[in-house]
Amino acid sequence: KPVIAIVGRPNVGKSTIFNRIVGERVSIVEDIPGVTRDRIYSSADWLAHEFNIIDTGGIEIGDEPFLEQIRQQAEIAIDEADVIIFMTNGREGVTAADEQVAKILYKTKKPVVLAINKVDNPDMRHMIYDFYSLGFGEPWPISGSHGLGLGDLLDECAKHFPQPDEEQYDEDTIKFSLIGRPNVGKSSLVNAFLGQERVIVSEIQGTTRDAIDSPYSHDGQDYVIIDTAGMRKKGKVYETTEKYSVLRALRAIERSDVVLVVLNADEGIQEQDKKIAGYAHEAGKAVIIVVNKWDAIEKDEKTMNLFTEQIREHFLFLDYAPIIFVSAKTKQRVLNILPIIKRVSENHAMRIQSSILNEVIEDSIARNPAPTDKGRRLRIYYATQVAIKPPTFVVFVNEPDMMHFSYERFLENRIRETFDFEGTPIRLITRARD
Ligand code: GDP
Repeated sequence: KPVIAIVGRPNVGKSTIFNRIVGERVSIVEDIPGVTRDRIYSSADWLAHEFNIIDTGGIEIGDEPFLEQIRQQAEIAIDEADVIIFMTNGREGVTAADEQVAKILYKTKKPVVLAINKVDNPDMRHMIYDFYSLGFGEPWPISGSHGLGLGDLLDECAKHFPQPDEEQYDEDTIKFSLIGRPNVGKSSLVNAFLGQERVIVSEIQGTTRDAIDSPYSHDGQDYVIIDTAGMRKKGKVYETTEKYSVLRALRAIERSDVVLVVLNADEGIQEQDKKIAGYAHEAGKAVIIVVNKWDAIEKDEKTMNLFTEQIREHFLFLDYAPIIFVSAKTKQRVLNILPIIKRVSENHAMRIQSSILNEVIEDSIARNPAPTDKGRRLRIYYATQVAIKPPTFVVFVNEPDMMHFSYERFLENRIRETFDFEGTPIRLITRARD
């Protein structure tokens, strides 16, 4: 999907516009830490266009001075985006800080669309003329608070989207990535997979695809490792900022079928781990939890169980994810990860016959009747699988608002008990039957 990044000095309304464009995206599980709050990256769509959008204003760069902050945010936009929205504030005219941003953006060949925010009504249109001086062509008036002009702005962005490139891998090839905090051992694990055979590393050229993809075969199965760790640009300050590494991880997640969430046995589970795992879950990818550096801790026969309990407690939303304890250093169990990747990837792409699915649903209703409310009862007519990766089911009912979260969860659990969906999220969508 093409990527749009919004840049601009603080307080021009970047996050308001970001939220407007992203719209109300209801997350499937409410209690995923950090997923719905302080968002800086999201998928979005406009008419027939699907894209991802980054609010670079949300990426705080340590204690750097103000100008340095905007400079780095603009550079992130240049690195990551296909189209850049350069946002300013019409009520304040062109400021020195706008000119600074412009100067940085002159360096890129990527398309820049100039958006003038806070033009709340047509009478204020004259405010935009000043902005021609920035040298990015026509300024597009918008109003974040009134939601005006966004359609035109996105149309303009879409004109510059790159043509989608061909899928480069076989359908049977399993794409997976490793995500996790810095230093949990992602690169070491990739090296442990690839051993000395790293010669086949292929750089994928392209404006935004600067990940390193490593094709890999094991037991007759083709894999591609999408290596975010390997694409770190050493020496750039912003590589160390938390949100920027999250952004990188998100880009890798998106291209993957299976995501390995890597934890460090040595440091236990941290807030940031949950946040990163939450993104994999929300993206609907198959997930495996890999506890690395298992060699580095003191342990007895109970340690693994205790660790497992802790993981289950902290990652409630990932109750479907298998857990494996490995050491990149000694290579203990590293190759055992591959068959698990294969298994969860098959589950992720599994299709269930409607007839069998509906037997399970009927049987579930018989055991635990659907909720009632003020004398009405939720009636479930039938269910059908509408998508894979992740398996997605539509449940047709009389009144969708009567489907409670807990009943949905019950149905999901019943489906999980019947079919092997280990490692993959599944989605239930409730629809009114017309
Ligand atoms: P990344 O930032 O997640 O890619 O982490 P790296 O792969 O760069 O590893 C960070 C540090 O942890 C390095 O010093 C590695 O040598 C060390 N490390 C990685 N895996 C293991 C492991 O399984 N056991 C031990 N003891 N150290 C490890």
